[in-house]
Amino acid sequence: MTGKEWKDIKVIYCDHVDCEVSLQGQVVYPAEWMPEQPPRIIAERCSHGLECNLYQKAVCHWSGTNPGVDPFSE
Ligand code: SF4
Repeated sequence: MTGKEWKDIKVIYCDHVDCEVSLQGQVVYPAEWMPEQPPRIIAERCSHGLECNLYQKAVCHWSGTNPGVDPFSE
């Protein structure tokens, strides 16, 4: 049986929200009958992305409002 879950990939301090936030990846695990397959990351998000999306100004790539800024790559 396969399974998937969100796991932290990287934790940073973000000035926009003045706290630690994490880059999370949605990890899909292979079926039991495919043990040689490694887990795969099929999506990524910021743990505060939804909240930042509600700001009235452009913030960053992970909030969906400013694709040119990625605090996790700095
Ligand atoms: S969505 Fe962007 S601005 Fe908001 S907490 Fe995450 S990294 Fe920081």
